[in-house]
Amino acid sequence: MNLAQRDQATIWHPYTQMKTAAAPIPIVRGEGALLVAEDGKTYVDAVASWWVNLHGHAHPYIAQKVTEQLQTLEHVIFAGFTHPAAVTFAERLLQILPEGQSRIFYSDNGSTAVEVALKMAIQYWNNLGTPRKKIIAFRDSYHGDTFGAMAVSARSAFTAPFWSYLFEVAFIDVPVPGREEESISQLRTLAEAGDIAAFIYEPLVLGTAGMVMYTPEVLDRLLEICQKHDILTIADEVMTGFGRTGRTFASDYMQGQPDIVCLSKGLTGGTMALGATSSSEKVYNAFLHDDKSKTLFHGHSYTANPVACAAGLASLDLLLQSQTQEGINRIATRHATFAASIKELPGVQEVRQQGTILAIEFEDGGTSYFSDLRDTLYSFGLDNGVLLRPLGNIIYIIPPYCITDAQLNLVYQAILGMQQLVTGQRHYPRPDLTMLHD
Ligand SMILES: *Cc1c(COP(=O)(O)O)cnc(C)c1O
Repeated sequence: MNLAQRDQATIWHPYTQMKTAAAPIPIVRGEGALLVAEDGKTYVDAVASWWVNLHGHAHPYIAQKVTEQLQTLEHVIFAGFTHPAAVTFAERLLQILPEGQSRIFYSDNGSTAVEVALKMAIQYWNNLGTPRKKIIAFRDSYHGDTFGAMAVSARSAFTAPFWSYLFEVAFIDVPVPGREEESISQLRTLAEAGDIAAFIYEPLVLGTAGMVMYTPEVLDRLLEICQKHDILTIADEVMTGFGRTGRTFASDYMQGQPDIVCLSKGLTGGTMALGATSSSEKVYNAFLHDDKSKTLFHGHSYTANPVACAAGLASLDLLLQSQTQEGINRIATRHATFAASIKELPGVQEVRQQGTILAIEFEDGGTSYFSDLRDTLYSFGLDNGVLLRPLGNIIYIIPPYCITDAQLNLVYQAILGMQQLVTGQRHYPRPDLTMLHD
């Protein structure tokens, strides 16, 4: 049996209908933005392997730092004990996090970072002796797959079997351009009714919703309402963190700053599973008490895993290098040029960009994640040597910052091919891999 067959005999994949899914593509190696398959075929990783990879695959500097940490201390219980990597990483994160963040709570993925944030917010009000029940979230948001994270996420087909098990959340519309006032007035009404513990939001870009974007100005207005009504604000920067939006954090575009920030994905540059939830001193202080029941009773076996923290530190070193910042700016500039060239083409409904994130929405006639168009676009990309994972009729690029101009060209070319496919100007497939090896 080859690897794909052995996989199909044993593995249950995420977000995959195992009955109908194509055989998985065995990847044996990665280098920069390229993934190398068992059969020698290469793929440009235009989605940064589910939005996690910042500096390219198998980065030698991260590998070196991880190796050193592995040979020194692989793990230690994080209750009652500490270690240099966790402390140094927390110190360095606090230096770059939005103003007002003062404590780092580690976990091991984006969903747990959100769970911790929600528990912090709810218990905060309990500890103060003035419990508040409700959480506000954006209607189309995605905050993860565990139950608390699902509860504050869109009530979509993905979570339908669990709806009756999810706690109630007050949803407001996403303030996309032209719809700002609705969203603001919905939040204001809820805030004035009271009993709101927290507002959780994906700042500027809602990833899973289809890279749906809104402006810093309108988010600032929402944050102002929260501040006025003493509502805790939770910025879920799991996807937007670490340069994705053009600045280190999406929150860096706002005047108002969150009480709590959730991090994962790019936190380790895409090397290790790690989550972090940061909080302001105000939130933290509400848990300090002689009464032990005020403790944040939460923790994971692998909390603050030293190897993951070492990967995070190495990734931060790389992120802050001028070469990386230039990469981010270069991608943003090239995206803007490509966006301008494609947005008037037939079949293209809307083009959205925020920093290194570019989304192209094709006209769909009412398709969804489950539609055939999605599968056709996905296969077309792969056949053209590009890993693009459409969200329904929306195709997006969220690349590692080291992606070369030639690789980016290949991605743009594949998207142009998709545009022609959508408008019936071209017959599928049309592989052209020549540019890849520039
Ligand atoms: C991916 C994502 C999560 C969940 O992170 P996982 O590590 O997949 O559990 C939470 N919030 C946002 C905004 C995300 O994009």
